[in-house]
Amino acid sequence: MNEKIALFTIFGGTGDLAKRKLYPSLFRLYRKGNLANHFAVIGTARRDWSDDHYREIVRETIKDLNPTVKEAEEFSSHFYYQSHNVNDSEHYDTLKKLSDTLNDKYELGGNHIYYLAMAPQFFGTIVQHLKSQEILTDNGFDRLVIEKPFGSDYDSAYQLNEEIRAVFPEKDIFRIDHYLGKEMIQNISAIRFANNIFESQWNNRYIDNVQITFAESLGVEDRGGYYEHSGALKDMVQNHILQVVALLAMEPPVAFSEAEIRAEKVKALQAIRLYSEKEALENFVRGQYGQGKLDDQEFVSYREEPNVDEHSQTETFVAGKFLIDNFRWSGVPFYIRTGKRLTEKGTRINIVFKQVPVNVFKDDIDKCGEKTDLPPNVLTIYIQPTEGFSMTLNGKEIGQGFTTTPVKLDYRHSAETTGNSPEAYEKLLLDSLNGDGTNFSHWDEVAQAWRIVDIIRQAWDKTSVDFPNYPAGTMGPEAAFDLLKQDNFTWDWQP
Ligand code: NAD
Repeated sequence: MNEKIALFTIFGGTGDLAKRKLYPSLFRLYRKGNLANHFAVIGTARRDWSDDHYREIVRETIKDLNPTVKEAEEFSSHFYYQSHNVNDSEHYDTLKKLSDTLNDKYELGGNHIYYLAMAPQFFGTIVQHLKSQEILTDNGFDRLVIEKPFGSDYDSAYQLNEEIRAVFPEKDIFRIDHYLGKEMIQNISAIRFANNIFESQWNNRYIDNVQITFAESLGVEDRGGYYEHSGALKDMVQNHILQVVALLAMEPPVAFSEAEIRAEKVKALQAIRLYSEKEALENFVRGQYGQGKLDDQEFVSYREEPNVDEHSQTETFVAGKFLIDNFRWSGVPFYIRTGKRLTEKGTRINIVFKQVPVNVFKDDIDKCGEKTDLPPNVLTIYIQPTEGFSMTLNGKEIGQGFTTTPVKLDYRHSAETTGNSPEAYEKLLLDSLNGDGTNFSHWDEVAQAWRIVDIIRQAWDKTSVDFPNYPAGTMGPEAAFDLLKQDNFTWDWQP
């Protein structure tokens, strides 16, 4: 198929992302036959590497996938290295010559994917040079894949977008949010739109609240330098979490197509209430981990991590409440939380349903002799590390008398299925080859997400905070629990 034929130029070809994600994903696509023999990769970065050395590195990155010697040799023979400083115009001329040579050699029809696996401050200059040095041609397609972060606030994102849009039309820009490539994030639409049992209840008449948890057990590791400028709000909420909110809250699209899904996601994001700064402070809490201990392992505080300021005000935890002002969701809080050094790693979504109108079992007595309310029905979507979903219902406890007990219907993909399913980057690379932007962030989504997040950031920047405020190895500061308590809810944390 013509569209699977392409030249990939990877800017940042010696970097961590290229080695850990892009090369193994390209190999998986190659092994499955998704990449025809008509493909080539140019890796560019500042280092002075030979093609041979580059190919050796590429083979090293796919070792865990157990290729045969022949497979590894054949695959890596498609890789070429070009030493390149992205600020130097002359280098683009050399790049163009190599692109033209490979285009002819592999009969690529001018199809070209530019993958910017580099820090965002270089995106503008790279795209300008692609145009001015006439690397972009009228033959085949030219598509741009870019990594997060897309700007550091609305204004910088707008500026960056203008620079990119001066060269590439929106349909050829693929802004990566790798969560959108994850199996269970894609499954949200199947759960909602292929099951009448859920879609008929998916509104404020039946749903009490929605809880989205992106918990990490790791600390900041060696990313302190980056994280100090980002913090949890920009690193997780502006992109991944708001994308999940949009997928959960959007109206059913009239067709399951890129344009229709995108239109509905944008509408959902636009319906999220834009808080005043005062409301942002009331509805969002931030945290930073201090020293702590979990399972006999001791952890240093965030401020003691490498490349972190000893007085850092950067948040490593965010919890908050979004309100969506439309007919479907009015009055239903969407609680979100994300943080580092939490009790355990786990990304999951809880849809908490309302109680039955009357509890005819209200004489149920729990084990402490207290009268109880029925626990709510909860649909949980497990994103990672396990993938699947569960539903908690209420049943009757076996035996004499009539006591209700929660029953959990639990479905998880087996480790084998999960292990064999395509990795997020593999799916997203194939989508970009197919020109399918469904699982990428459109500018309108990015822009609205920044508008929402900027207010919270501005409110926080004007107020002081007493950090650290949660010990490593816990589920965040007390204020994150109070946020739900004041609405008479609790975080429903079920591993
Ligand atoms: P990295 O620091 O490991 O790699 C950066 C690459 O850019 C290197 O190849 C370096 O040689 C090249 N480079 C830097 N300055 C250059 C210049 N002037 N000219 C030419 N090349 C230059 O970074 P990374 O972790 O691979 O991340 C790349 C991008 O991907 C960033 O935008 C990052 O935010 C994003 N990202 C990375 C990950 C990850 O897991 N590593 C995850 C999500 C997003």
